[in-house]
Amino acid sequence: MTLYAHTAKESAIAVIDKLRQQGAIALLAGGCVRDELLGLTPKDYDVATDALPAQVRKCFPRAREVGAQFGVILVRKYSYDIEVATFRSDGEYLDGRRPENVEFATAKEDAQRRDFTINGLFFDTEKNEVIDYVGGQKDLRNKLLRTIGEPVQRFSEDHLRLLRAVRFAARLGFEIHPDTLSQIKQLAPKLRIISAERIAMELEAILVAPSRSSGWQWLMDTGLRGHLANSWTDDVPADKAALSRLSFLPDQVISTSLSFAAIFCDISSSSIKRICHDLRLSNRVASNISWLIDSLPEAAKSGQLELADLKLLMAHKCWPELLLLVNANERAGGHSTSVYDKLIENTRDIKTSAVAPPPLLTGDDLKTLGINSGPEMGKLLSALYREQLNETIETRAQALVWLDVALKD
Ligand code: ATP
Ligand code: MG
Repeated sequence: MTLYAHTAKESAIAVIDKLRQQGAIALLAGGCVRDELLGLTPKDYDVATDALPAQVRKCFPRAREVGAQFGVILVRKYSYDIEVATFRSDGEYLDGRRPENVEFATAKEDAQRRDFTINGLFFDTEKNEVIDYVGGQKDLRNKLLRTIGEPVQRFSEDHLRLLRAVRFAARLGFEIHPDTLSQIKQLAPKLRIISAERIAMELEAILVAPSRSSGWQWLMDTGLRGHLANSWTDDVPADKAALSRLSFLPDQVISTSLSFAAIFCDISSSSIKRICHDLRLSNRVASNISWLIDSLPEAAKSGQLELADLKLLMAHKCWPELLLLVNANERAGGHSTSVYDKLIENTRDIKTSAVAPPPLLTGDDLKTLGINSGPEMGKLLSALYREQLNETIETRAQALVWLDVALKD
């Protein structure tokens, strides 16, 4: 028997049907309507309803409250999490981040509080029709990103919308309406008021996407680029080189580390560390970025590298990304891909099992032989491991002989 796996859309419709059975209005809302109209696959399906949170909870007793103050409830249906939000209008924004309070409202008012016209659409799944209070369908047809209402007001309410505009324009390949664009440029310095974490999340979403070079171009054109992090000062030549590198990365979603590394290639190691810290990137991502960039000169020496050096590069979890970075870096510089080609050629025949074999001798072995642990032992072990990676020593017996000689020196 094969079990039918429901789709995310079917899950959302099941949630909608249940709410409707209780007499509520329930509609698909926001990004999923936009994406479906564009023929794209929505990331997730959100539901908006006139049912108050208490009614929604009654309908779905096991649902989780995720944004109690905003009336957002997460309903799990057919293994999908569907966000159910009560129609609301936002109160005053005083801090450039979030409203002081929200009030439950009508669908029309709910559309008005959303950011861009293309994000302000609803879909009635029963009548099979779009509900458009904000002119979103027209803008979708014209591939135009435009705020709902006055751009200056909408960007002043929530400064994160400045980056969201870039993210959507890049991802969808849309133009930004001139009035919306001029306010983004005007208000770009306000980015500094919002938290580094939120900036980093948007920036990451812009950069990992296949549309990353368009996103970066928008960041430069709007002046937002100069306000991403305090320590990340404007540097037009470096930014232009970054743009070129980004355009040579694969046409698919890539990792956060690779996308940032592609931008940081012309920046000093210490500045990169500071920027990663300012953006609150995780230690893991920051160290992967540094590894990728620090490995570029090493990779460029590919022809002269010993087998051990190649294997040490290959053993890193970001090795496939290093290859992509080397390739993009060479092409962006207007060169042939000779470094990349050499790297591929020199590593092609190295078996996966030979890349990071277990060491023939360990610290414990050396201790039994009477060698005290300490820097000396560390040096011996790594020198021996290089021999092993170079395949000049292949057995434990050979390793012991090598050690004997090394200790006599
Ligand atoms: P994605 O496909 O990237 O998830 P999305 O349009 O679904 O795009 P979300 O961030 O998931 O974007 O938000 C869902 C909807 O909520 C948006 O379409 C928009 O209507 C509204 N929204 C989200 N963030 C904001 C904001 N900062 N200001 C106003 N409306 C917002
Ligand atoms: Mg979404």
